[in-house]
Amino acid sequence: MDVDYLIIGAGSAGCVLANRLSADPAKRVLLLEAGGPDRNPLIQVPLAFGLTAHSPSYSWNYRTAPDLGGRAFRWAKGKVLGGSSAINGLVYVRGHRLDYDGWAQLGCPGWSFEEVLPYFRRSEDWQGPPSEWRGQGGPLCVSPPFDLLPVDEAFMQACTEVGLPRNPDYNGVEQEGVSVFQMTARNGRRMSAARAFLRPALNRPNLRVVTGCTVTRIELSGGRAVGVRVRRGGEEQRFLARGEILLAAGAVASPQLLMLSGIGPGAHLREMGLPVLLDQPGVGSNLQDHYAVPVIARLDAVGTYNEQGRPWGLLKAAAAYAMQSRGMFSSAAAHVVVFANSRFGLASPDIQMHMLPGSSSVYDSGRLDGFPALTCAPCQLRPESRGDIHLAGPDPLTPPLIRPNYLAAAEDRHVTLASLRLTLSILAAPALLHLGAKPLGIDMRDSDEALLAFAEAQGNTVYHPVGTCRMGSDTDAVVDAQLRVRGIDGLRVVDASIMPRLVSGNTNAPTIMIAEKAADLIAGTFRAGVAKCA
Ligand SMILES: Cc1cc2nc3c(=O)[nH]c(=O)nc-3n(C[C@H](O)[C@H](O)[C@H](O)COP(=O)(O)OP(=O)(O)OC[C@H]3O[C@@H](n4cnc5c(N)ncnc54)[C@H](O)[C@@H]3O)c2cc1C
Repeated sequence: MDVDYLIIGAGSAGCVLANRLSADPAKRVLLLEAGGPDRNPLIQVPLAFGLTAHSPSYSWNYRTAPDLGGRAFRWAKGKVLGGSSAINGLVYVRGHRLDYDGWAQLGCPGWSFEEVLPYFRRSEDWQGPPSEWRGQGGPLCVSPPFDLLPVDEAFMQACTEVGLPRNPDYNGVEQEGVSVFQMTARNGRRMSAARAFLRPALNRPNLRVVTGCTVTRIELSGGRAVGVRVRRGGEEQRFLARGEILLAAGAVASPQLLMLSGIGPGAHLREMGLPVLLDQPGVGSNLQDHYAVPVIARLDAVGTYNEQGRPWGLLKAAAAYAMQSRGMFSSAAAHVVVFANSRFGLASPDIQMHMLPGSSSVYDSGRLDGFPALTCAPCQLRPESRGDIHLAGPDPLTPPLIRPNYLAAAEDRHVTLASLRLTLSILAAPALLHLGAKPLGIDMRDSDEALLAFAEAQGNTVYHPVGTCRMGSDTDAVVDAQLRVRGIDGLRVVDASIMPRLVSGNTNAPTIMIAEKAADLIAGTFRAGVAKCA
């Protein structure tokens, strides 16, 4: 099949591209996805991401190389229609306007906040109060959560008691303060990118979606990407593209596929026994991720998810979800978010906290603790540490070597320390003291060294890897501001890997925005001034 656009990966970005590009009936679009269909009803249940995120049926389940404290971290990554948006924690955060203004200043014209805001708005169907910042009528439903618990209120009250302002919309005019999280869901059901963007386009005759199809190499001819090799059901196949190939395999697989195709650091490719078609040292470098340190605070009996998670409570919660799509199972990964500054004089918050009215002492086990508790997980929003991704071997089915390099930079340790001290002061504020809040394994009087040791031992990924096919105008940038792979024709990268710098927040909404803008760039409909006509 000879198509105009061949998209690799049906994740957050790939689903948006498939929808927007196939809207032109004259263009033939092919979407190839390694994972399977998203038919399992558990994918629609928000809190069930605790089960799906590490299930080999829906996730790549990467494991990093030994990193901070000698630990190898589990990195979930979606492997199903919808990609990571089908297994993520559903929270919807755009980031700070200065993130995007910073991208523009780093040599990415067209990506300032004013220029990307229309794309955030275009994709969105915001269910909260109308605002000039928010979009309505778009494919991606974003809702305020409806079932908050009294302990959520107490946490927000405690934040105000330590001087943080209440913020009605952190995706609006201001980011700073304490807010209720917004989630990508409609009526208590997950809005993955597949549900929002792909499903409505599936019966277009010019769009073909192939699942269970792992792309193993992009084929180049005369400096141009012309097709791909895939493995499907144990067989090798080939697909050709007469137009463009759009790599949207995510921040781990996109650099991996470029390297497998001969585009990457020359010495490394030679070491792997691969041909060097374009020596590009930037491929796989510049890896950034958020590293959060969950602090569990035990509470007197106040009705947290830990109590609701006992057998009888679970039955009630399941019934509430089955009948009304409400209650515990309709919850995102966190209820309350804090954006705060580690010190005076910052232009934008550098700390984010995720607060959930429940806890699981065994990280990622999906098992709730047997006592009432909340978890507050702060992270440094704009890490300076940089990791990298390399091939572990020339076999395309071998997972790549991931080195996150968490907390390597002094600034990251400094901000992490400040974020832990702020967390402890919130937990000690009257509204939470009143509920008997007692942090476990960590104390206000601990030394900086002890707090950092806690961070090193307890912290974990927030699943936000970005930056490994960085956009920019310097020679090490992998793609230009139109997301074209520099030095290769007919090939673009469109996913979280192109972010030059990690945004100040969660990465699903920014990735969807990237694909919205890319679709306009690709279809040639981009016009200067589009920002004004959202
Ligand atoms: C467990 C978890 C929780 C998260 N929670 C949140 C959250 O609450 N809020 C938030 O904003 N963000 C969250 N994120 C991050 C967010 O979901 C991702 O940043 C975003 O989905 C990335 O989109 P993407 O298009 O770059 O990649 P993905 O959505 O990961 O899509 C890549 C797609 O490419 C496919 N693919 C890969 N290799 C190949 C190949 N060789 N051939 C064919 N197909 C291939 C994959 O199977 C996948 O479907 C979370 C992520 C995870 C994993």
